[in-house]
Amino acid sequence: MLIEQTPLDRLLGDRTARALKKHFGYATAGELLEHYPRRYSHRGELTPLASVPLGEPVTVVAEVVSVADRRMRGRSGSILEVTVTDGSATLVLAFFNQAWRRNELKPGSRGLFSGKIASYRNQLQLAHPDYELFQDEIDPEQAAAWAELPIPIYPAVAAMTTWKLQRAIEVVLQAVDSLPELLDAELLADHGLISLREAVRKVHQPERDVDWQRARDSLRFHEAMMLQLELLSRRVELAKTSSSKHTPGELLAEFDSQLPFQLTGGQIAVGRQIESDLAAGNPMHRLLQGEVGSGKTVVALRAVLTVAQSGGQSAVLAPTEVLAQQHYQSMIELLGLDLTKQLGVRLLTGQTAAAERKRVLLDLVSGKARLVIGTHALLSEGVEFYDLALVVIDEQHRFGVGQRETLRAKGKTAPHTLVMTATPIPRTLAITVFGDLEISALRELPAGRQQISTHVVAFTDAKLLARVWQRVAEEVGRGRQAFVVCPRIEGEDYEPDTELVTDQLLPEIGSEPAPPAAATEIANALAQNPALSKLQIGLLHGRLPAEEKQRVMTAFAAGDIDLLVATTVIEVGVNVPNASVMVVLDGDRFGLSQLHQLRGRVGRGEHSGLCLLVSASEPDSLAMRRLEALASTTDGFELSELDLEIRGEGDMLGSLQSGGRSSLKLLRVVRDQELIQQARVAAEKLLPELTPKLKAALELQRLAAISES
Ligand code: ADP
Ligand code: MG
Repeated sequence: MLIEQTPLDRLLGDRTARALKKHFGYATAGELLEHYPRRYSHRGELTPLASVPLGEPVTVVAEVVSVADRRMRGRSGSILEVTVTDGSATLVLAFFNQAWRRNELKPGSRGLFSGKIASYRNQLQLAHPDYELFQDEIDPEQAAAWAELPIPIYPAVAAMTTWKLQRAIEVVLQAVDSLPELLDAELLADHGLISLREAVRKVHQPERDVDWQRARDSLRFHEAMMLQLELLSRRVELAKTSSSKHTPGELLAEFDSQLPFQLTGGQIAVGRQIESDLAAGNPMHRLLQGEVGSGKTVVALRAVLTVAQSGGQSAVLAPTEVLAQQHYQSMIELLGLDLTKQLGVRLLTGQTAAAERKRVLLDLVSGKARLVIGTHALLSEGVEFYDLALVVIDEQHRFGVGQRETLRAKGKTAPHTLVMTATPIPRTLAITVFGDLEISALRELPAGRQQISTHVVAFTDAKLLARVWQRVAEEVGRGRQAFVVCPRIEGEDYEPDTELVTDQLLPEIGSEPAPPAAATEIANALAQNPALSKLQIGLLHGRLPAEEKQRVMTAFAAGDIDLLVATTVIEVGVNVPNASVMVVLDGDRFGLSQLHQLRGRVGRGEHSGLCLLVSASEPDSLAMRRLEALASTTDGFELSELDLEIRGEGDMLGSLQSGGRSSLKLLRVVRDQELIQQARVAAEKLLPELTPKLKAALELQRLAAISES
């Protein structure tokens, strides 16, 4: 519907158009029409007041019971108190100096009431009340239809209430009566859908519940179709683009022959896929999933060497300074002296000194360096390549599509792209977010990786908790090292992890969550713990100066620190094989995938790993069940499916598509799995040649995505 581009200020009053722009960012009719109701109420059905959450903006259907006017004590002026009901509970609306509202708010009248519900002396009150009464008289013959008429309740703000939105949408619907149909009738019929035009009307102006239900189903399918068409047509475009061709040669042979281990089956299989991508003559666009330690780096290096064989350059883009450093280190280690020299491996980050930076830039533009590893610094304008043939992006979701494109644009021809992620992405999410990429996965960990056993420890179990610290001391006594991970750094800086703020996980309204463990405080407390008195304790978190971070990491890697108290800064890239135990405090504050990532820091050497998740959550709570799920499996893919189910895709999508596609409207990845699959199949059938209307719609969708990011 984005295709309906009429500016709102041409259709609506200035004030309304401005408010829509200000509060929702809408400028066109299409955008407003995609503002779908959150839910539907009915005029005949009062909203149960007891179930309405306190402190949040709500809109309820209620009936006026009584109206009373009283003088304010000690001040001039009056308060009009209007009591409304759902049939059992009552709610009081107070209006200051607005006695005239008596004439409107007559007992027996019904309407929508909006505001925040508060509880004061056991009486529910509506703060900042706003209302809209149902006007029409009830004709007894029409009583049923009157009562059943669904009332759309829109996501609203005080300045743009749901009924104002409803009216604005009504005006727009009248003005734009010819929405273009994007999908042809046959396809709609095949999937039992109504036309776009009818669906848009009925989602906003249903006469019965089935109207909006069918409308919603149809709009969902449309949305899924447009998304898949977009993703798949990118693939089609890539297939039409030509790029350099590369086949492996001596460089790769030398690398393989000097590897101190056998490639896993997965590494070989993915290696073959990449080999054929690189030889095909159009740009590779592949996502490589594999958890930390699954051996992605080796796979990436083999691609680098294949490209380098014909003089092509590769750039490895890492999201942080630390990760870039680590990649650099581990890559030159894997390559060995000779290959490192032959390739001319370089590092370029924001901290590269000016003189060195100049040298690196020169080596890149002259083609002398065939592999550069770096951060965002690689994206800056001064960086030019002689022949950039391969872009490897680590931890994709931290880079926006735009950044990916910036780097790719530095190639002579379209470079090949390999995106690597350590967060396994559930399949439906993958085809929704990365549907334009070919997907490969490394599912097995290289042989020799140790088992990690995970246990949940209830914070209230003092005995068990004491045992946790004893266990840590024992591991250190055997010469090993430990991590203690905390969800926050210190003091009052607690902000609930947005990743976890889903409906199910919000604390009961009114109950203040206890602030979770803070790294600085825990480090101090552990230093006092008699069981740990002999241990060298270190502290690592994001707010330390860079040199201090480096110093602590080096000391931990060297074994000078026994126990490292840290925040999630250690989530990726930290490789200390001697670390064997990890204690996560307030484990329920982390996402499952994140915890999984975290525990991958132990068991990386010859000793098996132990991960202890401490949580103050109630025994049977959702939070506890998530932790138990984590303890029950070490398969990252299985976990990602679980996590998606528990958390809902909102957050996952959010973090995955930073700066990417415009967000989903009615579509929900988990719930609509089947529909998304169907849409993908239907979209595949429509491609490669799309109708002009669809092409135009996709173009608009792209523009919208870019301007949002
Ligand atoms: P990832 O990048 O997926 O986190 P890495 O490529 O860094 O994983 O590999 C993790 C560790 O496992 C490295 O020390 C690497 O040398 C080693 N490794 C990689 N592939 C294998 C293999 N096939 N067999 C044994 N060890 C391997
Ligand atoms: Mg890695």
